[in-house]
Amino acid sequence: MDCIFCDIAEKISEAEIIFENEKFLAFLDINPVNYGHTLVIPKKHYDNFLTIPATELEELTRLTQYLSGAIKRALKADGFNVISNNGITAGQSVFHFHFHIIPRFENDFHMRPRTIEYNTSEIESYAEKIKESISKYEGLLNG
Ligand SMILES: [Zn+2]
Repeated sequence: MDCIFCDIAEKISEAEIIFENEKFLAFLDINPVNYGHTLVIPKKHYDNFLTIPATELEELTRLTQYLSGAIKRALKADGFNVISNNGITAGQSVFHFHFHIIPRFENDFHMRPRTIEYNTSEIESYAEKIKESISKYEGLLNG
């Protein structure tokens, strides 16, 4: 499989690694949007947020929380964003699941997407569609 993050995990490609254990790896993004922009990945290949198994996602999330605190302290950041882009339209460019940790400093840049406006029937209709889809969740947990 041709995947740059698998290559980094297997040490075929180089990266500025800041943390590594048996299952996970964190390294600095080579196209950072801010200083200290870090990517946290499972060493095993999963395409995205929907395909990584829940247990691994939980561990990866705990690690991302820990690393976010370490990065914030180390760089004296005022805050940070934790994001995951899923799908080309969402800006995903490497199809190996990863979290971004982006340190933020006062007045650094604006990363707020534009907002849109609903009318009353639209917001209800969107909520209905999503709730219908969520209603299958309990079955999934119990099944
Ligand atoms: Zn991969």
